[in-house]
Amino acid sequence: MAHAPQTAQRQHVARRLHIQGIVQGVGFRPFVYRLAHAHGLCGWVRNGESGVDIYVEGEPPSVESFEAAIAAEAPAAAHITSQTSDPAPPQGLSDFVIRDSERRDRPTTALSPDLPTCAACLRELQDPEARRFRYPYINCTECGPRYSIIMALPYDRPNTTMRAWPMCAYCQAQYDDPRDRRFHAQPIACPQCGPKFSLRSGHTTTGGDAALDAAAMLLRNGAIVAVKSLGGYHLACDARNAQSVQALRERKFRKERPFAVMVPDVAAARELAELSKEAEALLTSVHRPIVLARSKTDLAGVAPDNDELGIMLPYTPLQHLLFTAGAPATLVMTSANRSSEPIAYADDDAAERLAGIADAFLVGERPIARRMDDSVARAGPFGNIVLRRARGYAPDAVATLPCKRPLLAVGADLKNAVALVIEGQAFVSQHIGDLEHYQAFEAFKQTIADLCSMYAVTPDELLVVHDAHPEYQSTVHASGMSGEKLAVQHHRAHVASVLAERGAFDADVLGVAFDGTGYGDDGTIWGGEFFSGSIRGGLRRHVHLREALLAGGDAAARFPVQAAAGFLDQINSRVDFSAPPFCFPERYDRALQLVRKRVRVFGTTSIGRLFDTAAALVGFTRPVTFEGQAAMWLEHRARASAAVAPYAFPLQEGELDFRPLLESIIADRLGGRNEAEIARAFHESIARGISLVAESFPDVPVVLSGGVFQNALLLDILRAAFGARAWTNQKVPPNDGGISLGQAALAATALS
Ligand code: ZN
Ligand code: ZN
Ligand code: FE
Repeated sequence: MAHAPQTAQRQHVARRLHIQGIVQGVGFRPFVYRLAHAHGLCGWVRNGESGVDIYVEGEPPSVESFEAAIAAEAPAAAHITSQTSDPAPPQGLSDFVIRDSERRDRPTTALSPDLPTCAACLRELQDPEARRFRYPYINCTECGPRYSIIMALPYDRPNTTMRAWPMCAYCQAQYDDPRDRRFHAQPIACPQCGPKFSLRSGHTTTGGDAALDAAAMLLRNGAIVAVKSLGGYHLACDARNAQSVQALRERKFRKERPFAVMVPDVAAARELAELSKEAEALLTSVHRPIVLARSKTDLAGVAPDNDELGIMLPYTPLQHLLFTAGAPATLVMTSANRSSEPIAYADDDAAERLAGIADAFLVGERPIARRMDDSVARAGPFGNIVLRRARGYAPDAVATLPCKRPLLAVGADLKNAVALVIEGQAFVSQHIGDLEHYQAFEAFKQTIADLCSMYAVTPDELLVVHDAHPEYQSTVHASGMSGEKLAVQHHRAHVASVLAERGAFDADVLGVAFDGTGYGDDGTIWGGEFFSGSIRGGLRRHVHLREALLAGGDAAARFPVQAAAGFLDQINSRVDFSAPPFCFPERYDRALQLVRKRVRVFGTTSIGRLFDTAAALVGFTRPVTFEGQAAMWLEHRARASAAVAPYAFPLQEGELDFRPLLESIIADRLGGRNEAEIARAFHESIARGISLVAESFPDVPVVLSGGVFQNALLLDILRAAFGARAWTNQKVPPNDGGISLGQAALAATALS
């Protein structure tokens, strides 16, 4: 009898596995538990501070298929970046268990972004027999809030904003049962023990199911309702009610910037916009971003002068419930704020700031730990591109950098996001906003403190990386921090952000950085820059747009005709731009005087301002009401035309010369050529300019970054021209939201 177990024992093997990536807070340990039991294995699984550790023992074929199944069958919200496996001596264990978390001095685990309600929870939500029927805080290990409720690591309930709600016996039993899909679901709650929702309208407060029904009715009747969501408040109204949409614009002081809409499902989204297979996948992905797509219907006032519509699907139980309660099937869902202030997320602040905007408030009790906007993305010719990276993506690690020391990169002042690098893992924060706004700057400081405390870094040990612009708020703030500092030039950071995503630190490339503005090595405003080299070897500026004078500096970005003055002054023409077809307002002449007298002018090589100039010539002569509006308008025009030949945009002595390009546009306008064709030819010319420079750098990847490359038409043309030779951003935005990653990458390699 003594023989049998010994023989069995001899056949057993044991292995230690280490899994990294997003593997905590996504139901990973119960998944491993069930998998191990299904394979008849013994051992344990636990959360370490750099991932999940597993020990298994059993028969070799079972261990082997268990290991393969981990990656193949992992929960949808998990994202494995590495899985290692080492032989270990078998210990003769008799069961498989989930062990307590291992604690170390410094956590390096990736925090999970917030997750959309899963299919299983949705079924329960709509099942009258279920305990959590119509309960807006339903969640499980595969869905629900994460980053937006976490106050500290490790991710355990006492460290979340759910700590104020002790679990009832029913929830506790599910929480403790490894076979339950709510095993260790930290935000677990039910109507008996959890937070509640209510609707406040005037002096009346309605609770429970009646709150949902009343909110849905208000929306049907054209009201504007503030709805508390995962990372902040939304303002909702019926997108098909032009009066409501107009009222929302007026109360929010938002003139023309597009609103996003939320629809109940993919079928409804298909009615509104042309959705490719990829766009649908993005729309239904665990990130649940606002997806930009060509719109098929005209929703008056929702996205004026724009051929794209931003659409998202419900991601919280409450949003699903609003639709089932009869809310209009196309809802404007926009960040609750005035103009470009950051989104309101604290209840008192929302009540105060939104008092004149919302007719009613649908408010839940669970506090939001940090502000988080909706993310914005698009399925494009180079794959998915993230234009605003926040809820659903942040704070996922976006790159691994060759750097052991903790490093903080503070980004740029527009579309700010910061990056913290811990043991080489680059965590990029959610979109923070434009730091000129007081509240955004407060959020910036808060986010830095937040990330540092989460990952237990003290400011003294940090290398702090900032933009080279001496007057950026972010630069000034960085300079005031303790620890060593390093400045990185803006456009090199753009190029490096693409390379960092790919881990291409040594690749020799041609880097193209096109944007509106950034501080150049010579103190002028750059924005049409070509670099050659690599992250490790350095990026040398080789070619740039011919310089023009910019009256009023960055302030010219608000007035396309003001930006145009310095460009058009270099052209030999006797055209009267105040006359038709141009009809430039007086501001143009005033700007021209400044340019000619060299008063309050700054040199610029900005492609963004060249876009503004072209837009002004084609007819956009009014001020812009949001950043990039004139270029978007021009792109929208150009889409109405088929492909046409580019204008001349010659490369001479290291400069792309805009003069022949602008002369052609003027001649075509005077000749009465169709505006769409002119706009299209301009886009083709920008792409042609890049091709001309690329001819001098054969066989190297062409890296495209900077805000100009948000332009979907330009990307289409470049995809056709370069194919896979062109590298673009995929994880961080090509706009200044990606700058912090590029800063971090250049600083990390400078150290190593
Ligand atoms: Zn769920
Ligand atoms: Zn409960
Ligand atoms: Fe930029």
